[in-house]
Amino acid sequence: MSIPNDDLLDSALRPKTWSDYVGQEKIKENIRVILTAAKQRSQSPDHLLLYGNSGLGKTTLAYLVALEMGKKIRVTTGPAIERAGDLAAILTNLQEGDILFLDEIHRIHKTVEEYIYPAMEEYKLNLILGKGPMARTMELKLPHFTLIGATTRPGLLSAPLRNRFGATFQLNFYKPEDIEKIIDRSARLLQIPIDPEAIKIIAKRSRFTPRVANRLLKRARDFGQVQNHNIITKEIAEHALSSLEVDSMGLEPGDIKILTALIEKFDGGPVGLQSLAAAAMEEEGTILDMYEPYLLQCGFIERTQRGRVASKLAYEHLGLKYPKTQRII
Ligand code: ADP
Repeated sequence: MSIPNDDLLDSALRPKTWSDYVGQEKIKENIRVILTAAKQRSQSPDHLLLYGNSGLGKTTLAYLVALEMGKKIRVTTGPAIERAGDLAAILTNLQEGDILFLDEIHRIHKTVEEYIYPAMEEYKLNLILGKGPMARTMELKLPHFTLIGATTRPGLLSAPLRNRFGATFQLNFYKPEDIEKIIDRSARLLQIPIDPEAIKIIAKRSRFTPRVANRLLKRARDFGQVQNHNIITKEIAEHALSSLEVDSMGLEPGDIKILTALIEKFDGGPVGLQSLAAAAMEEEGTILDMYEPYLLQCGFIERTQRGRVASKLAYEHLGLKYPKTQRII
């Protein structure tokens, strides 16, 4: 069997039906009500805002919305739209009812954002042509479309932009049994024989995130293949994950670095984000987006008014002694 590269595998694994989209039941249910109602009225569905960590299935949901509505989807990102003209080019190329998926919508340029409001509300664009006294405004009528915005940082969206979405959904981390189902489905699609025990091991270390689960499955497959095993066993999964420095709870070296800095340089906190970022030599945004959500979910850190604090669990996980003195938080 020829083995396609990771990018091809990613799109191959994207669920193409609602039943293949595991978990997030409440969100699926609500979105389907919105879509059914829109179909009954022969209108485009309301604009939707999806937020949650990377890899939790926001893009996949947008594709499912397009499939359900029988329309095309155009995918772009906030920072890619640099000028009003870029936005005009995208919007005027949409067909009636199409879906525009705008990833990282919190990073949209402020100058472009103002053009989005009338586009979302009234399906029109007011472009300014020329400069100074000769400037003219040109109104472009747009097809009805549905904007699906996705973000990992909803707090960075301006209130006027946030308010223009008809519904907002937060994608949460997945339950371990849902991640197991996702791994099982991916393994079948990729024709990777795998033991149920190996599925459990990979699921436990997948940060409750489908994209991570699929990535670890692929790495375990690589290990199995190189070692001439035709089935991924518990041993191969464990060996692959420890070679990748993914620990028993799914923490990777980056997470350990943050926790260690918090414990060793600040006695476990509380410490502000800025100081923690400097000590761990990481960007504040990277800590907020990539590391902290999972560390909070695992209960390894707590966020208090005075800053981040390492929990007893974190000390235990790293094999360190928890200081007996009660910290004043
Ligand atoms: P995001 O847009 O939130 O970063 P994606 O939608 O790109 O995440 O999902 C990443 C990958 O994880 C997809 O390619 C898909 O294979 C898988 N995935 C995400 N959510 C689910 C789900 N609910 N069920 C099954 N697979 C999923």
